[in-house]
Amino acid sequence: MTISILGGGQLGRMLALAAYPLGERVVLLDPNPESCGGHVAPLVVGRWQDPGPLAELSRRGDVVTFEFENVPDEAARFLADRVDVAPPPEALWVAQDRLREKQLFTELDIPTGPYAPAATRAELAEAVAHTGLPAVVKTRRFGYDGKGQHVVRTPADVEAAWLALGAAPLLVEAFVPFAFEVSAIAARGRDGAVARYPLVDNVHRGGILRESRPASDRVTSAHEREAAALMDRLLERLDYVGVCTVEFFVTDTGLLANEMAPRVHNSGHYSIDGAQTSQFENHVRAIVGLPLGDTRTLLPCVMFNCIGGMPDRAALCAIPGVRLHSYGKRGSTGRKIGHVTVLAADEAELAARVARVRPLIDAAADG
Ligand code: AMP
Repeated sequence: MTISILGGGQLGRMLALAAYPLGERVVLLDPNPESCGGHVAPLVVGRWQDPGPLAELSRRGDVVTFEFENVPDEAARFLADRVDVAPPPEALWVAQDRLREKQLFTELDIPTGPYAPAATRAELAEAVAHTGLPAVVKTRRFGYDGKGQHVVRTPADVEAAWLALGAAPLLVEAFVPFAFEVSAIAARGRDGAVARYPLVDNVHRGGILRESRPASDRVTSAHEREAAALMDRLLERLDYVGVCTVEFFVTDTGLLANEMAPRVHNSGHYSIDGAQTSQFENHVRAIVGLPLGDTRTLLPCVMFNCIGGMPDRAALCAIPGVRLHSYGKRGSTGRKIGHVTVLAADEAELAARVARVRPLIDAAADG
């Protein structure tokens, strides 16, 4: 089969790298001719809005999938009229707008913090009054890695938030005093079977994911059960096929959903080296109709993102248990250009290796 992937970034690249050993072929579409997915798979260069490249993708692919969610509605519909699309376009439609996402969570009784939309300066003040202070003002669309967000701590900050973000429709969220953050990653097959990865404990800095750890000792079996039940509702409601991720805040009273991603997720990159079957392989298996693979973690592991700059390669490779993934992208502020997974036989060995790896990551990273 040939899998057409909308988006040629690192997620498309890692999907392609997982697809080939299964005997599948891949073709990517991206407006950027330098896309790093193009280093490992054929890349069609074109804009999402142009019917020409979309038609080419639907012609060449037996199934179309996505590596990011900001694909225009019309593009998803154009493709869905011509070829099998997985995950379903409705999942994209929901996930590309923070308000729709929160509304779907509410409809499915998936707990979230208080939220309210705002399109005008007056509505912004009303929304902040509804959520209370502190609050986080976010653009409803096109925000990622902390971009398009503004924290409002006092009533006087509302004006600054409006000036910074008010040109676009907004969502205001109460600031959640979370203990830590986790992501639930699951694959759902065409037959409705679900393969669930253990919750991943995620550390962000400056709104950007820095570290992810599956099976962390902060995560309890109650958290796992709660996340599984909430995730099942979402997957069933969307009649989902492929890998889906939901990010949760862990609070004293349980999990609160932050956002969903209808795709493989940065917090699941550890699974390439640290799980029986990676999230990328399970996404491919799901969309081509193969049985899903075992999601168990092989060894204690931690994944570090390389943000802005790549750490010293020789120094990293000299440390046992280190798996380096450089995406072949140019480094610039806030840009994810690689990741490193550290594996070890036990927690003590992992801690010793992490103590050597973390300074190398930090020395190269910005922020
Ligand atoms: P997001 O783009 O919504 O995932 O936000 C990026 C990061 O900002 C999250 O992973 C949190 O660390 C933080 N954040 C976002 N929304 C909130 C919120 N309502 N309360 C507290 N922290 C938040």
